[in-house]
Amino acid sequence: MSGQRIVVLGGGPAGLNAALGVADLGQQVLLVEPREFLGGTPVAERYASITGSFEDAETAMARLAGRLTESALAEVRLGTRAISLEGSPGDMRIGLEGPGGSEVVTCGSVIVATGFQHFDPGRETQLYGYYEYPDVLALQDLESMLKDRAVVRPSNGQPPERLCFVQCVGSRDRNIGNEYCSKVCCGVASKEAIEVREQLPNCEVFIFYIDMRMYGYWESQIYWPAQERHHVQYVKGIITEVLERNGRLLVRGEDTTMGRPMEVLMDMVVLSVGMEPSAGTREMARILGLAQNKYGFIDAPGSPLDTVTTSRPGVFAAGAALGPSDLEDCASSAGLAALRAVSVLRQSEMIGT
Ligand SMILES: Cc1cc2nc3c(=O)[nH]c(=O)nc-3n(C[C@H](O)[C@H](O)[C@H](O)COP(=O)(O)OP(=O)(O)OC[C@H]3O[C@@H](n4cnc5c(N)ncnc54)[C@H](O)[C@@H]3O)c2cc1C
Ligand code: SF4
Repeated sequence: MSGQRIVVLGGGPAGLNAALGVADLGQQVLLVEPREFLGGTPVAERYASITGSFEDAETAMARLAGRLTESALAEVRLGTRAISLEGSPGDMRIGLEGPGGSEVVTCGSVIVATGFQHFDPGRETQLYGYYEYPDVLALQDLESMLKDRAVVRPSNGQPPERLCFVQCVGSRDRNIGNEYCSKVCCGVASKEAIEVREQLPNCEVFIFYIDMRMYGYWESQIYWPAQERHHVQYVKGIITEVLERNGRLLVRGEDTTMGRPMEVLMDMVVLSVGMEPSAGTREMARILGLAQNKYGFIDAPGSPLDTVTTSRPGVFAAGAALGPSDLEDCASSAGLAALRAVSVLRQSEMIGT
């Protein structure tokens, strides 16, 4: 028996939870993260708060990371990435490249938690002007402003009087090949809408949606409070174009409830961009030889009953590397991936004895 430890690729919410799960099961774990910090996209993109609790995102991720770094069974390598994988379950050798050069580490199994990236609104076929007009933002841009408590129009530094969200940008769109729903953006837009209303009580906030997809407790935690307590205005409509008009933004589309064209002036437009596999997820799928689905996320052939076992024996996946996921999905898939990865090791130990 050579591989006593499990290697986790990715230090975001899923990777941290997976590594913690492995350590909680009494097994050594090595977490590998190419960035110089832990916490994943919520920290890298400076998210303000997380759904449900509205806790500061950085604080929540630091708590998770702190639990891992305190564990005697866990080792973390920052600025490091995987470059190769050989061997079979229970006896694998993973090549790593980090600040000290390259090395080969033995391990029993691997968990891939390399996450997602935001859809690039420049690829959208609708004319939303993300790269044209400074006051057109994406969800993550507004998260960062909310974190700094500085929600202002980038064009003039003034707080907006009217702000709207445009849902389903880069998701549910056959023209660009992303037919899937990104799952989190209805909840995230509604959460951000509440925070804008709290920080700027005089700013009117609108959400233009095809249909709102709040699942689980987000309905009562975010959606109804957004309307009833914070007076966020939800408008069922399809936005087709954003134009500049006298220093403001003219938002054009169709009010699908009334069945008529719609034109409204806004100071800021926030595009609710969807989730796509990160460059790291695509790269790891290639290097580790993992099947991907047609969108580039890592395929779990046994899904929906086994959501974490990949096409390569001994390699498991967790979190948004598998598809659009919220933090609860990440915690769930990470826990299952930890269990599966440890059981591979235990089974190979039993065979070896
Ligand atoms: C604007 C926005 C706000 C959101 N807010 C919420 C919220 O409030 N509540 C909620 O439940 N969900 C929210 N989400 C979803 C949430 O961000 C994701 O569910 C979560 O970040 C996914 O975690 P992850 O660890 O799978 O991926 P990520 O957070 O993307 O982390 C992946 C990690 O893997 C690393 N990595 C990349 N390539 C490699 C490689 N080759 N080798 C090793 N590591 C690699 C990355 O550097 C990163 O650290 C939000 C999403 C968006 C778009
Ligand atoms: S979660 Fe909402 S905004 Fe996001 S793709 Fe699904 S329906 Fe569209």
